[in-house]
Amino acid sequence: MARELNQPLGGNDMPRFGGPATMLRLPTQDDAQGLDACFVGVPLDIGTSNRAGTRHGPRQIRAESCLIRPYNMATRAAPFDSLQVADIGDVAINTFHLPKCMDIITNFYADNILAHDAIPMTLGGDHTITFPILRAIKEKHGPVGLVHIDAHADINDHQFGEPIAHGTPFRRCVEEGLIDGNRTVQIGLRGSGYASDDFDWPRQQGFRVVQAEECWYKSLSPLMEEVREKVAGGPVYLSMDIDGLDPAFAPGTGTPEVGGLTTSQAMEVIRGCRGLDLVGCDLVEVSPPYDPSGNTALVGANMLFEMLCVLPGVDYRA
Ligand code: MN
Ligand code: MN
Repeated sequence: MARELNQPLGGNDMPRFGGPATMLRLPTQDDAQGLDACFVGVPLDIGTSNRAGTRHGPRQIRAESCLIRPYNMATRAAPFDSLQVADIGDVAINTFHLPKCMDIITNFYADNILAHDAIPMTLGGDHTITFPILRAIKEKHGPVGLVHIDAHADINDHQFGEPIAHGTPFRRCVEEGLIDGNRTVQIGLRGSGYASDDFDWPRQQGFRVVQAEECWYKSLSPLMEEVREKVAGGPVYLSMDIDGLDPAFAPGTGTPEVGGLTTSQAMEVIRGCRGLDLVGCDLVEVSPPYDPSGNTALVGANMLFEMLCVLPGVDYRA
């Protein structure tokens, strides 16, 4: 018997500005039981080094997602034809204690999502959260390949003496064997730094580092052929820091850098992940207080929809 699949609340059943602001107007449930994929928020910003505010990211992304319709007109993806998806709410982080948040997040993902064999689609939150998420993912899937969109490499050893912060997650992930450096690609890196080591260290770990200048003025679809080849061969995680985009498209973030990706380039990167064995995705660093227009969260919501559209098992209509 065919499963009854959740459908987003349609704009002809309830005006798009009405009703509870769940991700993509999906139903909610307490955990990922029975789901193929779930949206989950991690309202954390105590790992940020400059402007905070990403604690408000998940709620604003949900609010802006109310405009998104269920079918992808460009790729013909119809995720709700074949996947059971819901919004399982937010992780109850301890906003006074960053190290404790690491275990809170890992345990939540392990017990409430991965134990039910669902794919987590995370609404951040600052980039610190990817480290505890990947700890949980490793327990289930082993080390993953990584597609990482960002202005920053996020491989600092410490920030202000601390090993856990939003500029350190991928250093910690390498140290703990959560990601396979030879199956890792970073896209969009740029800006001023402290030393060339910021982008050289990841290359020494086997990463393919695609600096923003390599992306300027062109389609990234050809690049994605190389990326797929590099990260294939096992489970893959997709992590997108909204500051990978140019601040013209996404000003509402804590550490903006000029000269970034366009929204269409970011969509090409996500769409280029189709066919990979994606086991999780996140969209982090949306800081609504720095964008009262809501556009940054709107972009983030659309990026999450594009990620949903390339998950394994998605139906594409003829
Ligand atoms: Mn980042
Ligand atoms: Mn960044």
